[in-house]
Amino acid sequence: MTGAAPSALVLGGSSEGFAVAARLHALGFDVVTSFAGRTERRRTPEGRTRVGGFGGVEGLAAYLMTERPLCVIDATHPFAARMKANAAEACRRTGTPLTHVERPAWTPRPGDDWRPAADVAEAAALIPATDGPCLVTVGRQELAPFATRTDVALLLRMIDPLEAPFPHPRATIVLDRGPFGLDAERRLFDAHGVASVVAKNSGGDAARAKLDAARERGLPVVMIGRPPRPAGQTVPTPDAAAAWAARLVAERGARLRGPGAP
Ligand code: NAP
Repeated sequence: MTGAAPSALVLGGSSEGFAVAARLHALGFDVVTSFAGRTERRRTPEGRTRVGGFGGVEGLAAYLMTERPLCVIDATHPFAARMKANAAEACRRTGTPLTHVERPAWTPRPGDDWRPAADVAEAAALIPATDGPCLVTVGRQELAPFATRTDVALLLRMIDPLEAPFPHPRATIVLDRGPFGLDAERRLFDAHGVASVVAKNSGGDAARAKLDAARERGLPVVMIGRPPRPAGQTVPTPDAAAAWAARLVAERGARLRGPGAP
């Protein structure tokens, strides 16, 4: 390794991605965070940013061969299955060390009424027919199956507006971005008379208050399980990811020079 700062590619799209970038930056890494570009009003991470798909496994492998980051940290959302698989294969081909930040999944607590679903289509089918609306929190890209449930009202929460009106006679859109606190969720549930919830099992604290509000009210939650993740090295937290990257630097006989370096 030369005297230049070691570089790291963070595949972002989750709160962990911002935390990993901040920690690596503090350690003295030249860190690039990559975003798919789905969100219009994006936060800015520490270090550099690139936006847009790489062009599949081939594109990411070419990027890695050109940019030669010391390592890749996959901090995409637990449901970003394609990007995780592409990262695993491109890193294997190019011999680039990779770790996945794996946020623990939510598990039901006493009093929860969860109905498991394998994907959004099954989740839409499982919404109980109730008078009040179902709060749907799956993200704007995956709403299509819910259009068929014209027998229930829908409260669709998303970060950015839809490009076209949602084809459903009783759909209300709520634009909001987490983290969501319990008091705010209670107000939303009570203001709209929410009667059920559809959620992805994202894990973490930023989106879990809706589950607590549902439990308090005895409401059913259709919980979409996580897609499979490629085998390989994982870490549970951004701190562990930064420590893993710092160990790689040490193994190569180099030193980090940031103020947070060990
Ligand atoms: P996906 O299905 O796994 O990815 C689809 C394609 O989007 C990938 O093949 C890749 O395109 C591009 N992509 C995804 N993440 C990228 C990144 N960090 N940098 C550059 N390109 C990326 O993922 P998704 O469900 O569309 O999610 C897209 C982004 O939104 C991810 O960063 C994810 O972390 C975030 N997100 C997803 C969810 C969710 O529920 N899925 C929720 C919150 C946030 P190429 O093949 O062209 O490289």
